[in-house]
Amino acid sequence: MQLESRVAVITGGATGIGADIGRKLASEGAKVVLCDIDTAQGEATASSIRGAKFIMLDVSQDNVVNEVVDRITSEYSRIDILVNNAGVTRDRLMLRMERADWDFVINVNLTGTFLVSRAIIKLMVKQKYGRIINIASVIGLTGNSGQANYAASKAGIIGFTKSCAKELASRNITVNAVAPGFIETRMTGNLSEEVKQNYLKMIPLKRFGTTDDVASVVLFLASDAASYITGQVMTVDGGLVM
Ligand code: NAD
Repeated sequence: MQLESRVAVITGGATGIGADIGRKLASEGAKVVLCDIDTAQGEATASSIRGAKFIMLDVSQDNVVNEVVDRITSEYSRIDILVNNAGVTRDRLMLRMERADWDFVINVNLTGTFLVSRAIIKLMVKQKYGRIINIASVIGLTGNSGQANYAASKAGIIGFTKSCAKELASRNITVNAVAPGFIETRMTGNLSEEVKQNYLKMIPLKRFGTTDDVASVVLFLASDAASYITGQVMTVDGGLVM
């Protein structure tokens, strides 16, 4: 059990990659708290993971974030691992992108990561221990047409990760990012068969990624094996971006 007695908070944990990260960390002994806006799915996922708890949280709501972190702190006394995974897309070509499309994606993906991290870092500094893992995307490294808002949010997460890593290293808090490529979840489920096949042609390992592929790397970064790794971006993309 690599994470015995560790407390892990996972945002966007109701489904997809976040739910699988919850399963993986719990299987190594962590006490898992899943936070999400999707209450029905979040409750269902939490009840399928031993000892897990679901808490409704919109990561982009400043005051609510602080309240939820206070609740978790009073119940568990500590938070060892934070996985900022909540993420959304609202794809539009730049000529058609509205301010609302931009704000929505930046607010959830980037500002949400900032708000939840800021609230939890206070406790991690007191504990002199913390592992923060931010879920970015290869799109934050390469850009993508129709995804200027999403790419900006994910590139922002990478800059945020490196800055926090420098700032918090002396407090024994590591901060890393995971940049998945094409992973089969609800987020990619709506893409056309043509788009999927075009991606597949560009992936050297010739398959789409699974939520387990991402969760395994998050587990590694949360474990003691990664205690000397901080400020890094680990791509999990079958070789798509080299
Ligand atoms: P998903 O849509 O299956 O899951 C995202 C989860 O985030 C959902 O449960 C959703 O309810 C939750 N969420 C949305 N807005 C929220 C908010 N304001 N507050 C709290 N929770 C919120 O998508 P996924 O594919 O599992 O994506 C998880 C993360 O991985 C995202 O950050 C995404 O950008 C990233 N990612 C996914 C892929 C992919 O190919 N699927 C690739 C690269 C990066």
